[in-house]
Amino acid sequence: MDKHKGNLFILSAPSGAGKSTLYKALLNQDDKVRISISHTTRAPRTGEEHGREYYFIDDESFLDMIAEDAFFEHAQVFDNYYGTSKESIFGMLEQGLDVILEIDWQGARQIRQFYPEAIGIFILPPSLPALEERLRSRATDTDDVIQRRMAKAVNEMSHYHEYDFVIVNDDFDAALSQMAAIFMAMRAKTPVMQEKSGNLINDLLSL
Ligand code: GDP
Ligand code: ADP
Ligand code: 5GP
Repeated sequence: MDKHKGNLFILSAPSGAGKSTLYKALLNQDDKVRISISHTTRAPRTGEEHGREYYFIDDESFLDMIAEDAFFEHAQVFDNYYGTSKESIFGMLEQGLDVILEIDWQGARQIRQFYPEAIGIFILPPSLPALEERLRSRATDTDDVIQRRMAKAVNEMSHYHEYDFVIVNDDFDAALSQMAAIFMAMRAKTPVMQEKSGNLINDLLSL
């Protein structure tokens, strides 16, 4: 098979809509997909590990990385910095892997400027009460944090139309199937197939 580049996906949603649960389920069932691990200055939640959910670094190290131009994009979300390093994605794309960026709308805008072929997927909750219930059931945030995340949710959701696809995460399995279908479909786009199966296409057309 010819060498081909993977697709870059941007996954955004208000906090609690289920994007982490969805991408983890997709990673389990599709071995061509990888998640980009962001750097953040927020404290790890219970159960989170450095190098797995995020690279947890302090403000000073984050500012150093900005100065070194190490980030593909970065943004301030709530009171913390979050950023995608260049190193975390280009190697995987070159290997033909699809890479997911789980980032907010500000980061998505920056990515589209430099990488317009990135494919945006926005996840919506089935309702505002369901969103709040999910934040509570996750039991990782204090009441105060949950209130701030709810207040920010409407603002985040107002950017849904900047994305190529919208998935309502009501029934989880249905949402996962939709997401998997989008990934599959993007691999069959004509320009992708021209790159990936160029030799086959030449052979077929050479009689
Ligand atoms: P969650 O919303 O509950 O999953 O909480 P997180 O702390 O994991 O993410 C907080 C916010 O930061 C979300 O809006 C993410 O989309 C955003 N985010 C995470 N990583 C990145 C990143 O590398 N770049 C940008 N721009 N945003 C990010
Ligand atoms: P996000 O990464 O968008 O902040 P999470 O993936 O952490 O959201 O999901 C928030 C909570 O909602 C988790 O406890 C998760 O198990 C739950 N959840 C996710 N999808 C669904 C769904 N379709 N129905 C019910 N609960 C869900
Ligand atoms: P949390 O603190 O709940 O893990 O994440 C808060 C928000 O930050 C989420 O909406 C998440 O999408 C966003 N976020 C996480 N990593 C990054 C990143 O690398 N860049 C940007 N711009 N946002 C991020």
